[in-house]
Amino acid sequence: MAGVNGRPADPVIRVEDATKVYRLGDFEVHALRGVSLEVRGGEFLAVMGASGSGKSTLMNILGCLDRPTSGHYHLRSQDVSQLSRDALAEVRNREIGFVFQGFNLLPRTSALENVELPMLYNGTPPRESRRRALEALDRVGLADRYHHHPNQLSGGQQQRVAIARALVNRPAIILADEPTGNLDSRTSVEMMGVFQDLNREGMTIVLITHEPDIAAYAARNVVFRDGRIIQDLPMAHRRIATEELREMAKTAAAAEKDGAEQA
Ligand code: ADP
Ligand code: MG
Repeated sequence: MAGVNGRPADPVIRVEDATKVYRLGDFEVHALRGVSLEVRGGEFLAVMGASGSGKSTLMNILGCLDRPTSGHYHLRSQDVSQLSRDALAEVRNREIGFVFQGFNLLPRTSALENVELPMLYNGTPPRESRRRALEALDRVGLADRYHHHPNQLSGGQQQRVAIARALVNRPAIILADEPTGNLDSRTSVEMMGVFQDLNREGMTIVLITHEPDIAAYAARNVVFRDGRIIQDLPMAHRRIATEELREMAKTAAAAEKDGAEQA
């Protein structure tokens, strides 16, 4: 991606030799053992690896929820690895949009209010918050569900609300940790379609998953084992969600027509 004066832009994410050690009494867990990673603006990265390989630990560092034990993390050229907890929280609110497996929406609160929530703490005027929340819900295809509460929405619709909420502060990156873990396979394809649309519009996305079928919608594949990156390659055989959904719709229409003819 071109930056100023035609030189390549600085990466959005630059992790240098990060380690993470959890101490449990006398016992140490080496969750990251020297991880280096660069992600440029507009990339769509899938982070894969077996359970316990360090994916969530990396996500917590990338998302400014935690700091590495050693090494550096530059987010948009700012070294955030040594920031205080408060300063880190401020960067997190401004730069990161999170999407989790469990949606993490407030119950008994409308889709619109859930999406407005991240702007409650950063001084966005209420009218601007409302405008941006409506725009984000439109963007994820929920224009007709503003006033529904989470328990009145399907799992896929709830995850769309969560994605809208992740977008409203116009973050530098979206971090999604197993976002399809609670969804059926058809809804998972739809959700990956939402991520691919956002990425096509320029959003940088880091998707964490242990499912190769889901990782295949990303453009680049980073694989962890035992706290290290063991592979970092362009995605072979990338899946395109809109094409698959179109095929599924065709198959469903053909089946319906067959059924009607037999009746
Ligand atoms: P993954 O997301 O790939 O399943 P994690 O990053 O959650 O892996 O975990 C990596 C390793 O660190 C595992 O051995 C896990 O048990 C350990 N771990 C993760 N979080 C903590 C914690 N808060 N305290 C102690 N150990 C942890
Ligand atoms: Mg995990």
